[in-house]
Parts: sequence; structure tokens; C-alpha cells
Amino acid sequence: MERRTLLKALAASPLLAAPLHGRAAPADLKSVEALQRDWKMLLAQGADVTLDTAPLKRSNEEWKKILTPQQYNVLREEGTERPGSSPLNGEKRPGVFACAGCSLVLFTSAMKYESGTGWPSFFTLIPGVFGTKKDFMLIYPRTEYHCIRCGGHHGHLFDDGPKPTGLRYCNNGVALRFVPKPGTA
Ligand SMILES: [Zn+2]
Repeated sequence: MERRTLLKALAASPLLAAPLHGRAAPADLKSVEALQRDWKMLLAQGADVTLDTAPLKRSNEEWKKILTPQQYNVLREEGTERPGSSPLNGEKRPGVFACAGCSLVLFTSAMKYESGTGWPSFFTLIPGVFGTKKDFMLIYPRTEYHCIRCGGHHGHLFDDGPKPTGLRYCNNGVALRFVPKPGTA
């Protein structure tokens, strides 16, 4: 079966629920590039995050001490949180989203949109923060993405996001930590 037909056939699955674009994405790719280039405008001064992508290695035992059981399941075992369970779904304040495992900054609030899937969704990212691989956990191949610094699993990348990127980074909220930037419009 052709992939798109298969996706349609599986559209009833909550993992593939048709995204509703409640929040407008930028009109053109140049504006998306500007969001990627100027993302630090949404970084609060003295925020407890890192921009360092050098690999951070920890043993499973160490991760278990640092992470909650739910964070461990998602980040270290490629688990998926229940849709609609993350408070970050409704997070609309200005700020940045960092990896809950290692604090590397991954997205800004300006890259987030309401996909209607029940998972925090982003149409672009801060460049260079993720590695990807194909996984076959469901019937069809999906693009898994993980933090380039700690290797923690974050979510899957789909091609049904809003224009102009057409991308949907479907991220587990439990794998993210939001750092607001107060006083920003
Ligand atoms: Zn990380």
C-alpha cells in the first residue's frame, strides 16, 4: 500500500489524528528561518538551560535517580505519554522548551502550534538539536527523534504540519521543561 493511503487508513488512530491549526504559523520559510536564527529572543536571562550539544553520557542507574519514572519511560525507553496528559499542551506563554533530561534548548514558544493531537507540537526546531532514526514500532516506518546531547527520546516527526514547513514534531510533554520569559509579548 502506498504510504499516504496507509496513513489515511490509519487516520482514526490518535497518533495520526488530523491536526487542527489553531495557531498561525509564519507565512513563509524566511520567517521560519528568522525564528530559528533569533530564537534567543525568547530565552530568559539566567535561564537554567544549556546550549551545549556535546554528548552527555549517564548510566541507566544515574538516569533513574535524576528522572521521574514517567520521564525515564519516555526519554530512555522510547515510551509515549497518554495524549492530552501534558500541561504543556496548553502552554502559550513566551519562552523556550528544553530537554527534561539534559536541559538542552530544543524549541521556542514561537515554534509551537495547536495540532489537536493531544501532544505538544512544533512546526520547526532550533537547528542541530536532534538526531533521528526510522523506527518500526507501529506497522509503518516513523521518524523517531532524540536529543543530540543526552540521546533522550522526544517524539516522532510527521509531514502533516502547517505550511510553510509542513512538519509536525510530535513531542512528549514529559520530555520537555518549559522556561518562560517574563515580560515578553
Ligand atoms: Zn537531552
